Parts: sequence; structure tokens; C-alpha cells
Amino acid sequence: MKKIISLLAITLIFTACKDESKDNGKLNIVTTTTMITDLVQNIGGDMINIQGLMGSGVDPHLYKASEGDVSKLVNADIIFYSGLHLEGKLVEVLEKMESSQKTTIALSNALDKNTLIGSEYFASNYDPHVWFDINYFQQFAKKTAAVLSKKDPENAQTYEANKNAYIVKLEALQNNIKQTIETLPKEKRILVTAHDAFNYFGKAYGFEVVGLQGISTATEAGVQDVQKLATFIIEKNIKAIFIESSVPKRTIEALQASVKSKGHDVEIGGTLYSDALGNAGTPEGTYIGMFEYNVNTIVNALK
Ligand SMILES: [Zn+2]
Repeated sequence: MKKIISLLAITLIFTACKDESKDNGKLNIVTTTTMITDLVQNIGGDMINIQGLMGSGVDPHLYKASEGDVSKLVNADIIFYSGLHLEGKLVEVLEKMESSQKTTIALSNALDKNTLIGSEYFASNYDPHVWFDINYFQQFAKKTAAVLSKKDPENAQTYEANKNAYIVKLEALQNNIKQTIETLPKEKRILVTAHDAFNYFGKAYGFEVVGLQGISTATEAGVQDVQKLATFIIEKNIKAIFIESSVPKRTIEALQASVKSKGHDVEIGGTLYSDALGNAGTPEGTYIGMFEYNVNTIVNALK
């Protein structure tokens, strides 16, 4: 009898601790970029507690974990991140979490590597900006639903239903943006931005893409890069170039000045969301709203 009572006491203590840390039994999820946070929130809905480490306008290539981040990661049931060394300065801490048997998911690992764009600039050997192909983002959604369902089988039906509903929206998004792009003459589909975030976008939706700063923001553009790209803009008669929300705008302004110094003109066509979404609570604060905004901005400025 005594033994049963003490067992019961231990169980009660454990249950109490568990309730405190799990917030009424919901899974505690930690995500990295705003794109991943939005995705996992769409699939998890009300069934999960979610904390995104990076906010709007934050550059994931340069982001370092704070002490607060580490304790969030340690207390998470599942960590979702983009992967392929996008989160270059977090790789070490994320790998540590993985080796401590925590469920740590790099969503890009769900993609067929043979279909990815190679890049010597990343330790992964691949360009990590995969979310700009909506088909890849759909695969992220499927992987997320599978991971949540495995960890929390009781709510698997809800995750499955949320995933299916979200994929319908992503299909509609893809149809919409393709129609918008169709209104832009093919020879005008050249996208010049601050860094090479849009290679998958270009491949999937038919744009030639040139980034001033290379594929990661970790290396700055040199004077020669600016001169070369200015000449390219003049030769191709490109009407507009674009700032990115998570990259300082001075490099694109230097490019514009260089084109002007050669006696030509190029507009700044607007600010695109590349490696981070817009402010929470605005349409651009969601992946779908961000994509529509980017495509409308690009097409309107290049027409
Ligand atoms: Zn990037």
C-alpha cells in the first residue's frame, strides 16, 4: 500500500511538472524563420504552442541564438527549421539539440536533393532559399503534418485536415501568381535584387535572376560587382531593381547611382520580402500574402 501511495505521489509530481511545461498538454514548438513559423502555425492551428525565434526583417544568414533562444530550444518538444545552412550561425546549436535526442526537423531535408540548385557558398552545397518555389513549400507542409501527427497522434486528423486546406490555398496562390506573371512580357522578366535569394523563384516562374551580393548576405558586394551589374542593367534595358526587407538598402542604392553615373536611369521598384516575412498582422506577414505582394511589386515595376 505504502509503495502504491509513493508511486502515486511521484506520478502527481510528474503530472504537475508536465502540465506546467507543456501548457495544458499542447506540443511546444520552436521555429526559426518567419516563413517556417507561419507554415507550422497553419498546420498546427490551435493544437500547438509556437514560438518563432526570428521576427520580421531579420536576416537568417546572420542570426545568432540569444540565451533566451537556447532555453526556448531546450524546452521545445519539436524544433522546425529551414535547413541547408540558411540559418548559418544557428547550425551548431541546432545540431546540439539534435544529438540530445530532441525532435529537430530541417524541413529542406524533405526535398529531393537532385532537384535543388547547387551553391558553393553554403556548407550544405545547395542554395537554401527553397521556399520561393511553392511546390517545395507544399512539401514542407506535408512533412510538418507528418511530424506533428507522429508526435501527437490524438490530433493527427486535425493536422491532416489543416495541411489539406493549406495546400489548396498554396495551389490557388501558385495559379494566381502565374497569371500575374503572364501579363509581363517575357523579355522583361529579369529580376535584380540585393542578394541571390530568388534563384528558385526564377527557375519555377521563368525569371532571369541576378543578385548583387551573391547568395548569402555574409559577403559584401565589391565595387567591381556593382560596375558589372550596372552595365548589364543598361544593356538589357532593365527598368527597375529591388531592395530586400532583410538586407540594408545601401548596396542597391549604390547600383542605382552607378547606372546613373553612366548616363542611364533605373528605378528602385520597391522592397521585396526575401528571407523574412512582413510585420505580423499585415497581409505580408504571411507566406501567401508575402508571395502575392512580391510578384505584384515585381510585375508592376518591370512592366
Ligand atoms: Zn538569403
